[in-house]
Order: sequence, then structure tokens, then C-alpha cells
Amino acid sequence: MGKQLNSYQIAQQQVEEAVNKLGLSKSVFDILKQPVRELTVAVPVEMDDGTVKVFTGHRVQHNYALGPLKGGIRFHPDVTLDEVRALSIWMTFKCAVVGIPYGGAKGGVVCNPKELSRRELQRLSREYIRAISPILGAEKDVPAPDVYTNAQVMAWMMDEYSRFKGYNEFGVITGKPIIVGGSLGRNEATARGCTFVVREAANAIGLDIKGATVAIQGYGNAGSIVATLLHRMGCKIVAVVDSTGGAYNPQGLIPEKLEAYKKETGTVKGYPGSKGIENEELLTMTCDILIPAALENQITEEIAPRVKAKIIGEAANGPTTPKADRILTEKGVLVMPDILANAGGVTVSYFEWVQNNMGYYWSEEEVNTKLEIKMVNAFNEVYNMFKRHKNIDMRTAAYMVSISHVSEAMHVRGWLGDAPLEEKQRRIKMA
Ligand code: NAD
Repeated sequence: MGKQLNSYQIAQQQVEEAVNKLGLSKSVFDILKQPVRELTVAVPVEMDDGTVKVFTGHRVQHNYALGPLKGGIRFHPDVTLDEVRALSIWMTFKCAVVGIPYGGAKGGVVCNPKELSRRELQRLSREYIRAISPILGAEKDVPAPDVYTNAQVMAWMMDEYSRFKGYNEFGVITGKPIIVGGSLGRNEATARGCTFVVREAANAIGLDIKGATVAIQGYGNAGSIVATLLHRMGCKIVAVVDSTGGAYNPQGLIPEKLEAYKKETGTVKGYPGSKGIENEELLTMTCDILIPAALENQITEEIAPRVKAKIIGEAANGPTTPKADRILTEKGVLVMPDILANAGGVTVSYFEWVQNNMGYYWSEEEVNTKLEIKMVNAFNEVYNMFKRHKNIDMRTAAYMVSISHVSEAMHVRGWLGDAPLEEKQRRIKMA
């Protein structure tokens, strides 16, 4: 592999490292290094001016050893097949680390939704789902929202699939509006899951969550809800930044008031009683807990040596570069990796699917309680793996937990030949 690895190659490398650390056979890597099925479709859409534009879409299914496939649909001009492949691999890990019975998949359409009218967006959503429908189904492959798709897009897609089938199949897609089978608590689930993991990490290192200082990069869906929930747990939110600037107050910011201020002004900058703060200052400031909740590759090898937080909770996907990861581990910073820290979203997507299949719906309190149990168990499993092995970080530990579950399922299903469960795998399970 060359120096500039793309996301698919990085994902493959992560699989290889974890398979080797676990001492599993090469055939485990050979199966997991690539998706089991890929579908590329040409999607003709009638535009508002009467012309027809053909969009390229993908649906990639990585591994179904643990259950039906699961993963979001991204509408973005930069979508590539390799990116969708990488995201499908990461979904397998994310589902397995929190112990939900799904395999990983991902979908993408090369388009710029900002240039589409609402009608065009609806037609594209319907045509794309029809094109990939042969490989979808509540028991086969269950999409969800991702970048630039939302609950409305999911509703159109569910409706199109259901029309095509001739009956309502709510369980074919998650992240739907509540009125058509969405789950209470889904909107806050990613952030809520992240706060449970951060709380457990604080307990593990003897940091009192009450009074712990927190800095948050990104004040959108994930970041603002993390702020509110950690504040309720007794943390002091000392700084936040969004794409327009930041707010810092060592006495603590009040998330609800900050949220209202942002709604009014479109920014967190200038929040009464706060000083301005820039991205880099926030990432390297003195605080107990740092939450990246914006973009990828924010904590780089230049930033990492200056990070002072004791715990990093990756609400965002891929905010830490591999080189920065190594530096943070050497410094003793406890990084809660994205596949664990932001798995609350897919966990409540799973709860949505379970409720759709039962036709019986839980209260928000029930959803949140079940989410807490899943997240705390997942944290403990990964933390135990981290403690048992020398020279690994929490990210590698999370991959090792996931791959040991997936490979055990592949063993017992007979995908790895007739040999009994490998001795090493047995030991991982018993340790
Ligand atoms: P969002 O669009 O609601 O919010 C993103 C925030 O990041 C905004 O406040 C934006 O201003 C800020 N931002 C953008 N560029 C920035 C920059 N250069 N510097 C500082 N801040 C910047 O998105 P979201 O749903 O909150 O997602 C945030 C991250 O969490 C993404 O990595 C996403 O993949 C991940 N994530 C979200 C969910 C979810 O359910 N929302 C689930 C899993 C992972």
C-alpha cells in the first residue's frame, strides 16, 4: 500500500491489525477485508425543467455474519465507491462493538442536494431506493440517514419501498419520522450514547464527572446535545466552537441558553459573558474532557502533543488521525473511539427496527434505559480488552472486540472451514 491511503485502505489496515493482534487466521482477514456485495446503479431523475439527469448510486454490503445489514445513505458530490466500501466496513465494527445483531452496509449517491429542489430530492430518493430494492428488506438490509439525508428522505424511501411491495414495511429503514414508525429518543441517541461512554471513562480513571471541565468542537446535532446532557450530569462546559467561531467562559456556559442564542444569531460566537476562542485553542486548552463533534481529521499530529484533556469522546466520525492517535496513547490520554463513542445512533436505530417488527412502541424513558445498558456494557467490554493487552489503545481494543464477535459468528456458521473454534478465539472469549 502506498503512503497516501484512501479510507478503504485505512479500513482494511485496521481490520488487518486487529486480526493479527487477536492471532486469528488469515482467512478471517480475507473475508473481512472486502464487502460481500456491491451494487452500483444509474438513477434517472426527471428534473423540474423536464430534462432527465442520471445519478450514480451505490449500496455496499460488507458482512452479514451477525444479522441483517445496516448503514446510512449519504447524498454528497464527493461520494466514491471506495468511500462507501470503507464506511460499510466501519459499520460492521460499530454494530458489533455495541453488540447489536447487524452487519455493516452503506449507501451513497453522487449528487449535490443543495442544488436540488425538494421535488427533485424526493424523486431522486424514490428512484435510488427502487434501484437498490432487490438487495433491501427489513430482514436483509436496513438503511438509515447519513450526510445530507434526514428523516424526510427516509420517509419517502420507506414509502416507495412499501408501494413497491404492496404493504407497509416500516422496518426497511430507520431514522424515520415518529409518525411513520420512528423511535422516540433517536434524535438524541448519538449524543446520549457518547455521554454514557464518557461518564464510564471518567469513572475508570477516577475523574469525578461532577465539576469536570468540558470543551466541545462542533455545536450541531451531536455537539449541542452532548453539552446539554453532560451539563445535566454536573460537568462544566467551558468552551465550544462551531464553524463560525467559539465561546469560552471558565465559569461554565449554560447549554440551553447557548442553544437559544445560536438559534437567534446562527453562531455561538459572542454569547453573553463569554470570550472568543478558535478551533486550535479549544482542542489544546486545559480541560478534563474534549469532545470533537464536527469533522474528520481535527486532532492531527501537530495538535496531539498539546492536548491537555484526560479523556476524548469522539462524537464525530474519524476526528483523530492515526499518527495523532499514537501520540495521545503515549501521553496517556484515554480516547473513546468513534465506533464506540457515537454508536448510540445506530443502537437506537436498531431499537426502532425492533419496535417496527413488533408493532409496539416504547416510551422515551424505556429507549434511553436500554441505550444506557448497551453503551455501558460495550464500554466495559472494550475497556477490559484494553486493560488485558499491553501496547494497545482503546481504538484497537474496540476493533478487537468487534472482530472477535464477527469472527466467532463466521466460525460457527461454517464460513471458515470445519475446524473447531480457534483456541485463541476461545481464550479471548474466556478472558
Ligand atoms: P451537524 O451538521 O449538526 O453539526 C456539525 C457542527 O460542526 C456544526 O456546529 C458546525 O458549525 C460545526 N463545524 C463544521 N465545520 C467546523 C469547523 N471547521 N470547525 C469547528 N466546527 C465546525 O452534524 P452532526 O450530526 O452533529 O455530526 C457531527 C459529527 O458527528 C460528524 O462527524 C458525524 O458524522 C458524527 N455523527 C453524528 C451522528 C448523528 O446522529 N448526528 C451519528 C454518528 C456520528
